Amino acid sequence: MKTISRSNKLRGVCYDIRGPVLDEARRLEEEGHKVLKLNIGNPAPFGFEAPDDILKDVIHNLPTAQGYGPSNGIYSAKVAIHQYYQTFGLLNTSVDDIYVGNGVSELIVMAMQALLNDSDEVLVPSPDYPLWTAAIKLSGGNPVHYVCDEQADWMPDLDDIKQKITSKTRAIVLINPNNPTGAVYSKDMLLALTELAREHGLIIYSDEIYDKVLYDGHKHIPIASLSDDIVCVTFSGLSKNYRVAGFRVGWMILTGPKRLAKDYIAGLDMLSSMRLSANVPMQYAIQTALGGYQSINDLVSQSGRLYQQMTLSHKLVNDIPGLSCTRPKGAMYLFPKIDTQRFNITNDEQFVLDFLREKHVLLVHGTAFNWAAADHFRIVFLPHHEELEAALKALGDFLSHYRQS
Ligand code: PLP
Repeated sequence: MKTISRSNKLRGVCYDIRGPVLDEARRLEEEGHKVLKLNIGNPAPFGFEAPDDILKDVIHNLPTAQGYGPSNGIYSAKVAIHQYYQTFGLLNTSVDDIYVGNGVSELIVMAMQALLNDSDEVLVPSPDYPLWTAAIKLSGGNPVHYVCDEQADWMPDLDDIKQKITSKTRAIVLINPNNPTGAVYSKDMLLALTELAREHGLIIYSDEIYDKVLYDGHKHIPIASLSDDIVCVTFSGLSKNYRVAGFRVGWMILTGPKRLAKDYIAGLDMLSSMRLSANVPMQYAIQTALGGYQSINDLVSQSGRLYQQMTLSHKLVNDIPGLSCTRPKGAMYLFPKIDTQRFNITNDEQFVLDFLREKHVLLVHGTAFNWAAADHFRIVFLPHHEELEAALKALGDFLSHYRQS
């Protein structure tokens, strides 16, 4: 039999958060080493458990949730999502504008597959959550990265965006609150992005999966609440706010002049029906999650565990000579800058692998987030205090003697 190659569609598609660096971590584990994995934002394994009510509701509904559901989601979940967005001023919507999926991940791929023709361009932040870039490439499009400015609290660089808009640009993606930088966009920034979308006829895709993971009183504004004349697709889900990433529940809601997007919507409906329905039992968690007690607020308040871990890791990273990091306003990551000259770093993946092999702590290199220079990495601050302290002490010790060869 001949060797079997991947399809040409997959050339250039990558998702390095679970890529070669994770393979190396697994190899070390097979050798018997304990590896602290700070590579993915998966709250439950670090003891951030889901609210009890959510679990009870899923269990209660399990016996009657054995069949396929409606393709775009069960009614009670869609009503709850609809009401949730109404409280944020997303008006002129109905339950029919909502799609429930097996996580935001599935819906991102679906949204891009339904939109893009070969060589259509989509503006994507750099750094990004790399699924966006991967989904655009998989769908035949060209991701065009616009820079977010570290000096300006990682806000999108509007001039860079303007320069990169061409006749092929179909859409702009924003991630707010941002993974990996922790930025939360101001109303002025969102209005400026809205204005650009209006001027150039772009669709806005806004990934807001961390919309409740906010620190120091920062407020999240859904960009869709700021206009009704732009087609906007807003994404969120249960993975982060409610710590049930394994349930694989997310949604997207379409707002704006949907009459202009009838054909696109028909495409989305077809893709949604091709995968029959999202996981039905887990959709029962949505109504309880959105309508119930929001225990995430306790975790992100000043005395909360997530807040404390954010401040601790932010301080410890900045205490390491050669590293600097902005303070996250939201989400669960730090994206520190490395003084590459000091450590002679030219390859950030190599840096992550060298650290992993010596100290058995897994980070993700910045270029995996489509950041152009080899001078950043991402760390997840979900582990308990002691583990974070140990991991960052290991990083400090490692960097005290590291020079890349
Ligand atoms: N979008 C962003 C910005 C993320 O950080 C993640 C997961 O880390 C996802 C989407 C995927 O979410 P889901 O678990 O709903 O597929």
